[in-house]
Amino acid sequence: MKLIEDPLAIKELKIARAITVLTGAGISAESGIPTFRGEEGLWKELSPEELASFEAFYKNTAVVTEWYQHRRDILYHSKPNAGHYALRELQQLASKFDLITQNVDGLHQRAGSMDVIELHGNILENYCINCNQRFSQEEFDEIYRHNPNHIPHCYCGGLIRPNVVWFGEALPEESIEKAYDSAITCDVFISVGTSAQVVPASNLPRIAKQNGAYLIEINTANTAISDIVDLRLEGPSGTILPMFIEDYKQLIKKNN
Ligand SMILES: [Zn+2]
Repeated sequence: MKLIEDPLAIKELKIARAITVLTGAGISAESGIPTFRGEEGLWKELSPEELASFEAFYKNTAVVTEWYQHRRDILYHSKPNAGHYALRELQQLASKFDLITQNVDGLHQRAGSMDVIELHGNILENYCINCNQRFSQEEFDEIYRHNPNHIPHCYCGGLIRPNVVWFGEALPEESIEKAYDSAITCDVFISVGTSAQVVPASNLPRIAKQNGAYLIEINTANTAISDIVDLRLEGPSGTILPMFIEDYKQLIKKNN
């Protein structure tokens, strides 16, 4: 069954040189990664807002660290899904391709995507808040295991935190610059599984459209950008993206 039937969508995809994709929690939810929002975001009756901030970490290092170890555990028992693999394939097919993600789970990389622009960091990386020393997850686990208080310290004495962007913190400058650049210069922008509520990621689809890109949304429900998109593909990304890639392959085949 064909997914893309809209004549304008077909035309835009055929001539597109640069494709940019932005992904959010929706794509990982299909791999069993709980989203930050709603009931399932709660842990020991604490909300993400009470856990994912520097203040919470500083005041309650053991609890916050334990929460991150718990989330990593979920991740170790999860796998990339068909949506992640479809985006890896799209990277191989498009002349120019950028993948921007709000997710910190590294599932895109595990599916084989390269040069992923991570707006909110990566949960499997850690660094010292004092000297900035980086710790791989293996190194961190080793320190954590030998620490009965579950408060991991760097050799310098500083606390070790996950390399993720917490509430109230700025996004990594390099990533956000690359993301804006990509949104401005792409021909087609696809927003996947993101509620488009968190600034500045939510600006990216709008910026892309203002700069002439054809805007596609893949989501199970309407979002804040649904009104401005050129094409809405409703459904789970693990189903829609593989169909999208099949159609895209046919379109570019006819091009040659
Ligand atoms: Zn240190």
